[in-house]
Amino acid sequence: MRARMPRGGRARSRSRPVVAVLDVIQTPAFQQRFFFLAKRFIAGETAAAAMDAVAALNAQGMTATLDFLGEDVTSRTEAERTRDAYFELLAAIRARNVESNVSVKLTAMGLLVDEELALRNLRAVVDAAARNGDPFVRIDMEGSAVTDATLRVFERAYAETQHVGPVLQAYLKRTPADVERMLALGARVRLCKGAYSEPPSLAYKDMPTIRRQFMRSAEALLERGNYPGIATHDPRIISAVQTFAREREIGRDRFEFQMLYGVRPELQRKLVADGYRLRIYVPYGTHWAGYFYRRITERPENALFALRSMLSR
Ligand SMILES: Cc1cc2nc3c(=O)[nH]c(=O)nc-3n(C[C@H](O)[C@H](O)[C@H](O)COP(=O)(O)OP(=O)(O)OC[C@H]3O[C@@H](n4cnc5c(N)ncnc54)[C@H](O)[C@@H]3O)c2cc1C
Repeated sequence: MRARMPRGGRARSRSRPVVAVLDVIQTPAFQQRFFFLAKRFIAGETAAAAMDAVAALNAQGMTATLDFLGEDVTSRTEAERTRDAYFELLAAIRARNVESNVSVKLTAMGLLVDEELALRNLRAVVDAAARNGDPFVRIDMEGSAVTDATLRVFERAYAETQHVGPVLQAYLKRTPADVERMLALGARVRLCKGAYSEPPSLAYKDMPTIRRQFMRSAEALLERGNYPGIATHDPRIISAVQTFAREREIGRDRFEFQMLYGVRPELQRKLVADGYRLRIYVPYGTHWAGYFYRRITERPENALFALRSMLSR
């Protein structure tokens, strides 16, 4: 079955200047010259560089999930190249003996070409991961055009092995129902706000509502779920989760916080010092434009940081 192309799937606004910026940062010439801008959020361009970053996080008491950057591939060959990059990555995790699992994007595994192809590639990655100390494979969630297809592929893989888990986005209006479905399956869920530009018919747009929705799903997952990953840098949500867990006597070993590489490192260290489990999402590879774009558009301070790095050279 063919998944629909994600029209609204890109991050934030699609105004002309923004599309132009994305077009420019996706060119190989820009990426070669300006990797230093993305360096704060991306561990490196090779698996070896990513291993160094993860080893440094492990030394600070944090685990990791590694993401080989790339999305929206449009050919079988590219999708198989992504799968092979994950084989290399999983072998590197074993060889370096670092504490990390992996996160995959199904559009990078061929979801837009053919759903069966994405499932086959995912199965191959899950089989390879089974040889690792942490065999878990997280399926990132992308734009709403592929939500159904992503959850379908997840459920088919999950029927064969429980070492695979989805991501649910609190901004989507459908998410409370998806949370209930995942609770019924006993699936291990990562909950995040959501990073793509979605229409108001599908997604909440204002932050207070998104936070409320996040907490509604987080509470259900904490009370009844299977080791949820609470993925946010939002101090209000983190504090509400800590209070809820304390009041309901939910132990710190029953969930983990998750944050992005390079975002709020001081808060990351504080959570570990306070005895919470923390997993860092570590992206690496040469196709960093889409990921970097989502990071700089979701927070003005990240764009300022990139600009400062440029000026200080
Ligand atoms: C581990 C992980 C995995 C993710 N996986 C997915 C996925 O599969 N699909 C998806 O759509 N999205 C994913 N996301 C992205 C997520 O949906 C949000 O877009 C992103 O995390 C921003 O929302 P937030 O809740 O972290 O905080 P925000 O609402 O962006 O920020 C909350 C507060 O955090 C602070 N803050 C945040 N960033 C910075 C910064 N750079 N510098 C300083 N302060 C900052 C500020 O005080 C801000 O007020 C993931 C996020 C994480 C952490």
